[in-house]
Amino acid sequence: MMSNGDVYENINKTDKVRKLEKRLKQAQRKLSRSYEQNKYKKVGENCYFNNRQKQICRVQKLHQRLANIRENYHKNIVSELVKTKPAFITLEDLNVRGMMKNRHLSKVIAQQSFFHFRTKLQMKCEEYGIELRLVNRFYPSTKLCSCCGYKKVDLTLKDRIYECVNCHQVLDRDLNAAMNLKQATEYELLVSV
Ligand SMILES: [Zn+2]
Repeated sequence: MMSNGDVYENINKTDKVRKLEKRLKQAQRKLSRSYEQNKYKKVGENCYFNNRQKQICRVQKLHQRLANIRENYHKNIVSELVKTKPAFITLEDLNVRGMMKNRHLSKVIAQQSFFHFRTKLQMKCEEYGIELRLVNRFYPSTKLCSCCGYKKVDLTLKDRIYECVNCHQVLDRDLNAAMNLKQATEYELLVSV
């Protein structure tokens, strides 16, 4: 979600990626079963080594396909973001809360994925002369009211709408968080212009 209300779908929640991840899991399971069942066999005894090699290839290919999908998706978002030529872009450092919401995605992949995206964005910002800010993951972007700055402590993940008890602003939760990031005054400068 961007501060102008634009939403980019989470690529890891699409059917295509979910199906591929499921197939990857099955392939990995099959591979580890093969190790389990044949651990006492010696090399050259039967053809199972060839089969295992094939299974390893299958797993690698699935990994590659998933990586390519994420890569392309990030590329598209980055070029759309810089196309609008904003004065600055603020990014929130990878947050654990967000990662926990997606059971399909392991922490390691989430970290790699975020880092790839960040690097791509950084390169493009340098090229286009756009300031890039990184806000600390402990900044309470979802809890603050983007209108008056009031901090709501009892906000839960289920609350999709942010309702301020102080100034009575009612806003989409993610949009409110994006507005807060835009207004953030404490950040690390990844690209300065
Ligand atoms: Zn408020």
